[in-house]
Amino acid sequence: MALKHDWTKEEILEIYNKPFMELLYEAATIHRQHHDPNTVQVSTLLSIKTGGCPEDCGYCPQAARYHTDLEGNDLMSVNQVKAQALRAKASGSSRVCMGAAWRNVKDGEEFDNVLEMVRTINKLDMEVCCTLGMLTENQAQRLAEAGLYAYNHNLDSSEEYYKKVISTRGYQDRLDTIGNVRKTNVTVCSGGIIGMGESEADRAGMLVALSTLNPQPESVPINALVPVEGTPLEEQKPVPIWDMIRMVATTRIVMPETQVRLSAGRTQMSREGQAMCFFAGANSIFAGDKLLTTPNPDVNEDMEMFKMLGLNPQKAFEKKSQPESVDAENSKYKSQGEKPKWTRPAHKIDRNLEAQQKAKTKA
Ligand code: SF4
Repeated sequence: MALKHDWTKEEILEIYNKPFMELLYEAATIHRQHHDPNTVQVSTLLSIKTGGCPEDCGYCPQAARYHTDLEGNDLMSVNQVKAQALRAKASGSSRVCMGAAWRNVKDGEEFDNVLEMVRTINKLDMEVCCTLGMLTENQAQRLAEAGLYAYNHNLDSSEEYYKKVISTRGYQDRLDTIGNVRKTNVTVCSGGIIGMGESEADRAGMLVALSTLNPQPESVPINALVPVEGTPLEEQKPVPIWDMIRMVATTRIVMPETQVRLSAGRTQMSREGQAMCFFAGANSIFAGDKLLTTPNPDVNEDMEMFKMLGLNPQKAFEKKSQPESVDAENSKYKSQGEKPKWTRPAHKIDRNLEAQQKAKTKA
């Protein structure tokens, strides 16, 4: 059946608010039509450059302007990344996702090193994903040529609520970055966070933005906010598990072929809660004791849970064949020394300004 690309907010809200059992049954049925319900993809998220980010994302402990006791680090070396990737592979991960706390990618030595990391991990026969901020078309082509499998760039929330969380970058820039990735053979990973104080309509709005992309993202991470002291969202109450299950189920229904990823916030969920998410259509998780900077269940705990539920980790390149890695000297796409003009809306967000002020007082 052809995928639907014209979902409206009203239609999605109607799904989200169905009686719970009906929602679960519908999502599980669609899930089985498009995926093996006993297979879950396992990714390891690696923070290759931590902290010191110039952006003001209200949920993020890596934003330099907030006071969060986070220990930052400069860009890791290719060898350090290779060692971590080998460890991830040995513990059952088929994908390594490398995250750098950058506003956008800048051509130069650091990006060249990231390209080398992509080549190195791809040659280990693992899927490689990067999340590096905003990206031009040429930069996306260079990553594709190095052997990148997926690029993550989250929409975070609806366009309306995004403005209440972030003031230093625009929603359209995020869509343009996803568009640049789409011009290559790299798959798109894009999702968001619930529990930031958004309404159900905002959750539906985010799913409209993602599901009306054509093609729909191959992967959609659904995060539950992990409130970190010092960030503007430190006081947010944990998301009820029911909201998480409803969000996963709704995502599954509106994007049947996508891999829906249970991302941040799993430490706050019971195994029963996670099992219901898998039943509702989640078929991907992040493994490892840290998700960039916030806690995550231990790999052994996850493998125990998989055993208990009879779930199997998905093999690398099961959904799409392995890209080739072109070595740097044979590259067709060279550094252009680009200085793209990504927007800075710079509107005022009171809670962000308050958190920034508090950080200054503490310093
Ligand atoms: S979410 Fe990314 S861009 Fe935003 S502050 Fe954190 S590291 Fe920077």
